[in-house]
Amino acid sequence: MAAATRLISRLTLVTGGGSGIGRAVCQRLASEGASVVVADISEESAHDTLGSLQRDLRGQGHMAAVVDVSSKESTHYFQPPSVCVNAAGITQDDFLLNMDEDHFDNVIRVNLKGSFLVLQAVAQALVACGAPKGSIVTVGSIVGKVGNIGQANYSASKAGVEGLTRTAAKELSRFGIRCNCVLPGFISTPMTDKVPEKVISRMKSLVPLGRMGEPAEVADVCAFLASDDSRYITGVSLEVTGGLFIG
Ligand code: NAP
Repeated sequence: MAAATRLISRLTLVTGGGSGIGRAVCQRLASEGASVVVADISEESAHDTLGSLQRDLRGQGHMAAVVDVSSKESTHYFQPPSVCVNAAGITQDDFLLNMDEDHFDNVIRVNLKGSFLVLQAVAQALVACGAPKGSIVTVGSIVGKVGNIGQANYSASKAGVEGLTRTAAKELSRFGIRCNCVLPGFISTPMTDKVPEKVISRMKSLVPLGRMGEPAEVADVCAFLASDDSRYITGVSLEVTGGLFIG
């Protein structure tokens, strides 16, 4: 099927849709005909993304929703979307020797527990309504595999997201629900804007393709995993890193 029409009439939920990778995912899915729910903790940024979306091809429209992925109440009310991309995430970096327990808990709560709550809510809704298929995409990180100085909490949360996704893939296959994880490398977003220029330059020098990635390059992969073009793929972690840490 042509990419421009792959997701016609699919209701999709994108968390973290107000910024960076999540925003690019919303834009990409909308451009393929999906009806998008832009979910973010920030109402303003969710609405900014909403305003940037191409109209869905069947006129169902898109919507913005204020959602805190780390709160069960907040993730409870979804209509069953047949596609979900959970891109909400945070960093609270510090060296292991100095890291506050709160910073550890916060990052695990949003990134790992949030992924669990969203995945569970969407899967429960799909199973309850007898939907024939669904595709859930989680967003991990390459640092969940290789670690990263200053990110003990973040890398642990992202390693957890991969394990969660693989387990969900095993449990949910029999319901026609596929679950896959994308592992971005270093992508230019407000999250990486916080990283000192010196560190960014060093990271760039390690990337075989020689540059940071763009949010749209992660969104392209999410759209593939969301669509039936990946119908025989479940339980994988797909690196979108420009070759960073090959092997
Ligand atoms: P971003 O620009 O900061 O976007 C993250 C979005 O999630 C923001 O709109 C943020 O809102 C929202 N958010 C934060 N906490 C939330 C919560 N509890 N519930 C709902 N929404 C929440 O970051 P990004 O770089 O696009 O990151 C998107 C995902 O990719 C994250 O999971 C991140 O860990 C992952 N990732 C990013 C990179 C990278 O290099 N950028 C690499 C690997 C993985 P506020 O801005 O209001 O907090």
